[in-house]
Amino acid sequence: MPLPLIIADTPLDATVSGLLEGQVEILPWSALMEPIASQVVGLYTYGHPVVDAELLNRLPSLKVVSNYGVGVDHIRLPATSERGIPVGNTPGILDGATADMGMTLLLAAARRLAEGDRYARSPQFTRYDPGYMLGREVHSSTLGIIGLGRIGQQVAKRARAFDMRIVYHNRRRNDMAETTVGATYVTFDELLAQSDFVILCCPLTDETRGLFDANAFAKMKPTAILINISRGPVVDTAALTQALQSRLIYAAGLDVTDPEPLPRNHPLLKLDNVTIAPHLGSATEQTRRQMAEISIENLLRGLRGQELLHRVV
Ligand code: NAP
Repeated sequence: MPLPLIIADTPLDATVSGLLEGQVEILPWSALMEPIASQVVGLYTYGHPVVDAELLNRLPSLKVVSNYGVGVDHIRLPATSERGIPVGNTPGILDGATADMGMTLLLAAARRLAEGDRYARSPQFTRYDPGYMLGREVHSSTLGIIGLGRIGQQVAKRARAFDMRIVYHNRRRNDMAETTVGATYVTFDELLAQSDFVILCCPLTDETRGLFDANAFAKMKPTAILINISRGPVVDTAALTQALQSRLIYAAGLDVTDPEPLPRNHPLLKLDNVTIAPHLGSATEQTRRQMAEISIENLLRGLRGQELLHRVV
């Protein structure tokens, strides 16, 4: 019996490939343009390829879209829903790793770690000087969380261990989360005005795209630090670059950028007051293994016509 045909945005890592071996036959993304696309029953999105109506129209036999990761902003959900195609993702298991990365960036940006590392390796570092490289205090400061969801709550738990005061903004108040993590609900503008650190933990949607623009930066403290572990386009890159260059805000720590990666000559890359990671939020061996297992289980269940472990829509 032939194996079910799926399309994936290859290359896949060894764990994913190993788990898929013998279960499905994997075609590369370029197969979308070939006649064989009409026989494809599964789509496996690994590195955020766009899935839109035009692409889905090429796949009349499609039964399931399975995403490796929780964020599905690259998948046009109205288009999959219209066609009755379930979309699976991997929520929950990556919250701890992603929150750890948020705190890593927060601490690194506040204490100028990446800049200090560059200096400590350079020929210029010849003498300790108590007056250089002073940063901002993390403990006892105020943290503003945009998106107190699964990942945001894990960030809040960690921040409490640093004696931080926590304020948050969601579209809806979350009483249960407030009680669990001791966060106070504020308006968006109040959060910007009060926070020493603002961390973005919301999804990328039509509402959050460009949420952090010049207007938002102007409302933040000049000593504030922005951390983005959400998606790059939640922040207007030109406005952020300007805000950091002019010291409208103190610093930023970014796990994600827009575009991603930034062009190699982008002015943001020349600034010392930004710390950038290449989208490493969930990138631990343990979490990535679980993401592989869950996303493949979602795929196989969808192919069998069963309920997915985690279904977005
Ligand atoms: P979640 O549990 O759904 O939480 C999202 C939170 O954002 C909710 O509290 C939601 O509350 C809030 N939110 C949604 N729209 C908002 C808006 N317009 N303004 C303010 N708050 C808003 O999602 P999650 O699992 O924590 O994941 C969040 C996002 O993190 C993902 O979508 C993904 O893009 C990103 N992520 C990044 C990495 C990485 O590697 N950096 C890893 C994993 C996930 P309301 O609905 O009440 O507004």
